[in-house]
Amino acid sequence: MRYQDFHRRSIEQPEAFWAEQAQAIHWHKPPQAILEYDRPPFRRWFAGGETNLCYNALDRHLDERGDQLALVAISSETGQTRELSYRELHAEVNAFAAVLKSLGVGRGDRVVIYMPNMAEAVFAMLACARIGAVHSVVFGGFAAHNLALRIDDTAPKLLICADAGMRGGKVIPYKPLVDAACEQARQPPPHVLVVGRGLDPEHRVVAGRDLDYATLRARHEGAQVEVQWLESNEPSYLLYTSGTTGKPKGVQRDVGGYAVALALSMWSIYDIRAGQTMFSTSDVGWAVGHSYNVYGPLIAGATSVLYEGLPTNPDPGIWWRICERYRVRTMFSSPTGIRVLKKQDPAWLKRHDLSALQWLFLAGEPLDEPTAHWITDGIGKTVVDNYWQTETGWPVLALMPGLDLQPVKFGSPGLPTPGYRLRVIDEATGRDVGPHEKGVLVIVPPLPPGCMTTVWNDDARFLSSYFGHFKELLYSSLDWAVRDEDGYTFILGRTDDVINVAGHRLGTREIEESVASHGSVAEAAVIGVHDELKGQMPVVFATLKSGSGEDAGEAAAGMQRCVVEQLGAVARPARVYVVAALPKTRSGKLLRRSIQALAEQRDPGDLSTLDDPGALEEVRRALERGA
Ligand code: ATP
Ligand code: MG
Repeated sequence: MRYQDFHRRSIEQPEAFWAEQAQAIHWHKPPQAILEYDRPPFRRWFAGGETNLCYNALDRHLDERGDQLALVAISSETGQTRELSYRELHAEVNAFAAVLKSLGVGRGDRVVIYMPNMAEAVFAMLACARIGAVHSVVFGGFAAHNLALRIDDTAPKLLICADAGMRGGKVIPYKPLVDAACEQARQPPPHVLVVGRGLDPEHRVVAGRDLDYATLRARHEGAQVEVQWLESNEPSYLLYTSGTTGKPKGVQRDVGGYAVALALSMWSIYDIRAGQTMFSTSDVGWAVGHSYNVYGPLIAGATSVLYEGLPTNPDPGIWWRICERYRVRTMFSSPTGIRVLKKQDPAWLKRHDLSALQWLFLAGEPLDEPTAHWITDGIGKTVVDNYWQTETGWPVLALMPGLDLQPVKFGSPGLPTPGYRLRVIDEATGRDVGPHEKGVLVIVPPLPPGCMTTVWNDDARFLSSYFGHFKELLYSSLDWAVRDEDGYTFILGRTDDVINVAGHRLGTREIEESVASHGSVAEAAVIGVHDELKGQMPVVFATLKSGSGEDAGEAAAGMQRCVVEQLGAVARPARVYVVAALPKTRSGKLLRRSIQALAEQRDPGDLSTLDDPGALEEVRRALERGA
């Protein structure tokens, strides 16, 4: 079927469309209504239907593909690889679920999971799903404070952690962070279940609270735990947004709508069917990890590859070696990840047999054209930018090679995916803008299946954060966009990142792209800094490729030249700072708001999601030093 027809049907006949898609998953009890929408913008997809994510991810496949690989968990940190067939994964998840039940965890109880990218993190998630517990995975790199905030927001009955993670060969003990978080939290969990990896065998054990997973598992080896059927709209999990714009929001996801949306996206967008292999480099702590390392591939009956480690360890060929070894068909990563490789010798892209690889999908941040070209040429595969949010759980904009591949336009994540009715509207008037005019990207409700149902425990925040921006009831996460005459959408950054130079509204992204087209630039962040005369001026912070041979002054001049040539003198960066690293969130997004605050001598704001404090220090020093 052609993309256009498919999408049109999803918009014009949503109930018929989604009723068809719903057949891709197993329902214990069929839905009574495809859509209930009597309290906009809240909506209930597949109301009355009963299903279970774990059953759809595992049990359903046992007869047909019990011996096929379900999960490959590779760690370049510990040097270990675990390969589990559907049958083996099912057994592990059942044992884990039995342990959870023995601790009194059941339907609707929250479970915080604080683990690195290891197989047990997947077991724990699926075990929760099996018994109807609501998991809340907290990225393992977060500090005690972040963990404590999420504990207090969810009031978990149990926290599951690893003794330690590793990063770049260094052991990072998790348990002391968990201990500290439990001390800070107002509602600490009664039990902490520790999955020991032998990395920190001497970790402190709090008597009566802490439990050892291996000991409990031994008691439940071979257990079979009945699936807890859930009404389609019951919560499956909670996941916090990246915190790029401020305090993270606790996104609540449902069961049935999510399963159906993932099933659809797996074949139509990611072009993966049962028996094929998908490798997502995400961490299980992010939305991509939930949807495309755990639930999506397994619901599709595919093999999922999970990777713990840096893209450059033991060498910059590691991702491609994994693609070769497991005959990966679709790979999923982020622009940030590719920019890390861009600092390395491109010869690493050519050393492995990538004949099975068809597609590289990238999401999470604007994919600048220079990076898109670099990686497309480097691996000789189609690179598909896709745009989505933690809130949506699956792509909003993408190309859909599983239907028919529309032409790639560099710089654009493409076209709306099924069920998404998108508009680009003027911020002030709320009216649709024309082709090539900038505006705010909005989704016309009802949000399609798979998207968040609400903010956990906070319907009011759901309404005000996402639906409170315009007179009409429209969903927006305030991304700034432009659409061309073919309907391709280009994301220009966030509306609060827009730089207003003497009345010209420039997206940070447009300028970043232009700066990055200067050959020696690895990565750039552009911010608007207050200016007496012009209102705001663009200021650039950039990192250079290693061995580029240019000094900072030459590079800065080169970047300014690119911007003036491509965007005009109005966009000319007032200053260019060359730095060694840029501040990012733990999920790899540029923290422009903090850079901007420093540049305007303000407080850098909520830094709880900041990855490397050293990078912000770099910025501070660069500002002191002057460009
Ligand atoms: P917070 O909502 O807490 O401020 P966040 O928006 O970074 O953080 P995520 O849900 O991880 O949290 O990211 C979604 C956002 O990432 C989108 O709203 C958009 O700004 C950006 N984004 C994601 N994919 C793309 C893409 N392909 N192109 C451009 N921007 C993207
Ligand atoms: Mg957001």
